[in-house]
This record gives sequence, C-alpha cells and structure tokens, in this order.
Amino acid sequence: MTTAGKVIKCKAAVLWEQKKPFSIEEVEVAPPKAKEVRIKILATGICRTDDHVVEGMWPSKFPVIVGHEAVGIVESIGEGVTTVKPGMRTSNHKFEITSQRKQHN
Ligand SMILES: [Zn+2]
Repeated sequence: MTTAGKVIKCKAAVLWEQKKPFSIEEVEVAPPKAKEVRIKILATGICRTDDHVVEGMWPSKFPVIVGHEAVGIVESIGEGVTTVKPGMRTSNHKFEITSQRKQHN
C-alpha cells in the first residue's frame, strides 16, 4: 500500500516548551509540497544543536520535533524534485521538518 500523496501518522518526540521533557505523540505529516521530500526516518539522535533548542540557547518555535541528524528512506517526493527518488536511502544533517502538524484529538 503506497502512502504517497496521503497524510501519514507517525510517532514523534515532541518538545512543547524549552527545558521540558519530550512528549511521545502521534503526529500527522502532510505529503511533500513542491521541492520537498518526505523521508521515513529509520534512526535519529539528539545532537548538540538540538540540545541548544531544548535548553533555550537557540530561538525556536514550539512545538518542535528535533533530531535533524537522521538516516531514512525517501518515502515520496514533491513536484520538481529530481535529485532523489522514492526508495532511496538518505542521511543528512540538514533535514528540515516543514510539514508536520499536531494531531487534534
Ligand atoms: Zn545536528
């Protein structure tokens, strides 16, 4: 079953405020827009940069999902994406989470 073009639900460690514990929640992730890629994250960690967000040393909008140093598989691509294809493995320090939204219960 393909998930391309559909909103998907994922578990994420959401940080609602600086210096507070993470909250493990289900979030919805929209399909990628033009020039965006949606990646199925296989593994990630919390790096020093993320810790700066957690500790409030780096301004950030909340809620936020940190963990930009990840490895995963390209799940789907938005219009105009030509450098990767669904199914490719990828890792990057520059993941930018742009299309997530908190699920409303
Ligand atoms: Zn980092």
